[in-house]
Amino acid sequence: MSPEPTGKTALEGPVRVRFAPSPTGFLHVGGARTAIYNDLLRQSLGGTFVLRIEDTDRERSNQAMIEQICQGLEWIGVEWDEGPLLQSDGVERHREAARRLVEAGQAYYCFRTPEELDEARQAAEKRGVIFRYREVFEPPSPAEAERRRAAGEPCAVRFRMPEEDIRIVDLVRGEVAFPAESLDDFIILRSDGSPTYHLSVVCDDIEMAATHVVRGEDHLSNTPKHVGLFRALGAPVPTFGHLPLILGSDRKRLSKRTGATSVEEFRDQGLLPQALYNALALLGWSPGDDLEVMPREEMIARFTVERLNAAAAVFDRDKLAWINGQYMSGLPLEELLPHLEPFLEEVGLGGLEGASRERLAVVADLLRTRAHTLRELAAFAVAYFKERVAYDPEECAKFLGQDDLPAQLERLAARFGALEAFEVEGLERELRALAEEVGVKAGVLIHPTRMALTGSKAGPSLFDVVAVMGREATLRHLTNFAAFLRSAGT
Ligand code: GLU
Repeated sequence: MSPEPTGKTALEGPVRVRFAPSPTGFLHVGGARTAIYNDLLRQSLGGTFVLRIEDTDRERSNQAMIEQICQGLEWIGVEWDEGPLLQSDGVERHREAARRLVEAGQAYYCFRTPEELDEARQAAEKRGVIFRYREVFEPPSPAEAERRRAAGEPCAVRFRMPEEDIRIVDLVRGEVAFPAESLDDFIILRSDGSPTYHLSVVCDDIEMAATHVVRGEDHLSNTPKHVGLFRALGAPVPTFGHLPLILGSDRKRLSKRTGATSVEEFRDQGLLPQALYNALALLGWSPGDDLEVMPREEMIARFTVERLNAAAAVFDRDKLAWINGQYMSGLPLEELLPHLEPFLEEVGLGGLEGASRERLAVVADLLRTRAHTLRELAAFAVAYFKERVAYDPEECAKFLGQDDLPAQLERLAARFGALEAFEVEGLERELRALAEEVGVKAGVLIHPTRMALTGSKAGPSLFDVVAVMGREATLRHLTNFAAFLRSAGT
């Protein structure tokens, strides 16, 4: 006999874990987080991660959704060792298990019609008690069941739930007890011969020899049923871990109301996969210090299930954006650039080659600490590749009143143009020297120069901007801006 469960347990590998999404939509961040904890378990303890697609609900599943889920996992950096296995491939095996359970007397044929069940349910409701099948209905004797089946009467197969308390030691919640009186017999094979989720999931977990079942808290109430089935099928019961819900900022279950909910949406908004992995992993797990940026490798090294939190976690979008900013600034540039590519394409900077490509890398490096998303970074970068900058007269109002400014900008262009090396130091020296010559503060030239070059009031240090913009574009923009000020000012 195994000892009575007492609390959370330390784990040893190697493990066989699984992520078992139903392909009924995009990969939700809740699902992604479940996959991430399975990934951390498998990576930290060694073993095997199986991806199993629970596609038995055929009406709601399709191939495109399966591919989407795989792509979502790949993108976020969760690797699987086996799969994707399709649950639907095991239907015959699941049916066979149901037959074995009937033969062993651990399941029985159920001929009750939906109407009968409804009636019994309503009667229980009237009496103010919870409907429990096994308190109301007697299972038919095997002989009667055989006779009625032979006569072609439709029937389901119902599992005979043992009348005893079920206890588990959950990795996240510690000991959880399900009293016998809260349990009931349940359908494992529908009258059309299709296995229910409970039967399929247990058969597949047995087939793949899952050692740990880490999944969302919404499955906790299914777990005693699954434990009953594992035992009846003579298989070891895996260790369960039920992850708490993810809440939105409204403290309700995360939904569209508070923004994006699928991994794909975050990708399309310009989040880095490393940042989303990081943010989701730290939503319900922390290694015990306040670190908020922790790359996957470090998480793997420090991961312990003891520090999984049972309380529901609020998904903090601002923190995600901040974490994303940290990764945007901190990743090696050559790792960042491929993620930026789709967003460059959107703004017409896709597929640059040669010198333009090199320039793009310098621009991205200059701007990346100021952008919160890849999309924003691409939008900032566009300014550095424009033939002409568009100026908004309202934004430029303050420069329009300065009559000497166009001429000063032209003089600045000439001085910049005469520089041998077009570099930060020399550029700064020239601008400050000109400011002194004409008797204005450096800022009087710095602000319009930034506007001239980028069409914007804000950005990185001006001299970095000028250096990255390059000689030819800088002179062009300064000259054009001077002309714009003259024509708009008159
Ligand atoms: N297919 C279930 C879901 O997507 C998961 C079942 C499980 O992990 O046991 O919620």
